[in-house]
Amino acid sequence: MEKNLIVGSDSLVRLTNGNYVNYINFDNAATTPPFKSVIDEINNFSHNYSSIHRGTGYKSIISSRIYDEGREIVLDFVGGNRDYHTVVFLKNTTECINKLSYRLQETLKNKVVLSTYMEHHSNLLPWKYRYNTDYVEVDESGRLCLEDLEFKLRLYGGKVGLVAVTGASNVTGYINPIYEIAKICHKYGAKILVDAAQLIPHSPFSMGDINDPEHIDFVVFSAHKMYAPFGIGALVAPKETFKDGFSEQLGGGTVKYVSIEDVVWLDPPMKEEAGTPNVMGVVALSTSIKTLENLGMRKIEEYERSLTKYALDLIQDIPGIVLYDDKNIDEKVSIISFNMEGLYHDELALILAHAGGIAVRNGCFCAQPYVQKLLKISKEAMLRYRNDEYLPDPGLVRISFGLYNDYNEIYLFYHLLNEISKNVD
Ligand code: PLP
Repeated sequence: MEKNLIVGSDSLVRLTNGNYVNYINFDNAATTPPFKSVIDEINNFSHNYSSIHRGTGYKSIISSRIYDEGREIVLDFVGGNRDYHTVVFLKNTTECINKLSYRLQETLKNKVVLSTYMEHHSNLLPWKYRYNTDYVEVDESGRLCLEDLEFKLRLYGGKVGLVAVTGASNVTGYINPIYEIAKICHKYGAKILVDAAQLIPHSPFSMGDINDPEHIDFVVFSAHKMYAPFGIGALVAPKETFKDGFSEQLGGGTVKYVSIEDVVWLDPPMKEEAGTPNVMGVVALSTSIKTLENLGMRKIEEYERSLTKYALDLIQDIPGIVLYDDKNIDEKVSIISFNMEGLYHDELALILAHAGGIAVRNGCFCAQPYVQKLLKISKEAMLRYRNDEYLPDPGLVRISFGLYNDYNEIYLFYHLLNEISKNVD
């Protein structure tokens, strides 16, 4: 797809040998660079830059309208229902999950929350320390075990109130069959939260009809992984979620009435967004969604799959490469994790950056329980490494493609990886 959609896609970088090469960004699962359309729209909007909902000035009215329209754009993008769902704008996926975990306390009283072994820490820790939790297993190749999900739902005999599961893993890129999972959850009276941070920028997604057993109850995602800037994310949930009680963050913009004795809260979502909101972020997110929709999510998915297949086919034959991947391209987003025998993951990542100008990520990617499973090492081994400054942490190298990466970049990466492998003892 077209590189010139992206800001900075023509950046040069100086290598250790003094040569300049094109910067190759294979770290899109961490953050994607912004679309030009997004930065242009931010610039346009800055002429109307104003605080929302509380001003009578022309610019405040325009800004308020743009902000409110942002909710509709998000809702349509995730296939939400305008009468039933609401969109809460927060900082990122992590903040969205934390809010949900806080706000569901009454609903989930005496219930169990099921998370999984393949979650990002952001979809583990907010549940682990507030609820009785259990974790759905992954199989040998790292795929989520649906039998274990059903086993645990049955085991707790209707006590599971929520299953918090990632749409796609940020380590292996494996896509979970979320609609099938939703159906199983609903059969046992549990709701489902999909952490769509890695799924939504790469594949079509829909919450589905609320009367369909396969519908998704809650979804969260971050704009900075979908070609918009940092600091804005969305939580889409039934309005009902926020009816009772009040937000963990309190302050301006959340109330209809305040006296020293009494408070009357605004309706959701306003009630959940204390303080002056990130209007610029919503402008950016709305524009990135429109750009993605214009490109077509199905087309993006197909293109990124072909990049992933190309990369996997090339690198699997390099001597010493250890892949953590079942190569089922149709059920993964564009992420590949690997190691090279004889080199630590951090050394390999540094060589790729310094000798090739190729940005990758290495380590455990905030998914330690999953990486521990994939590497098949014990907690003691993980800690032995982490407590000893001379031992490098266990981990993997991860490449992740965006819609602007191309085959040539992958070939250059493969070529360098192959050269590196020839020089490892
Ligand atoms: N969930 C997944 C699957 C992720 O990959 C990430 C970030 O890498 C997060 C949650 C957290 O996202 P954020 O840091 O934007 O809150």
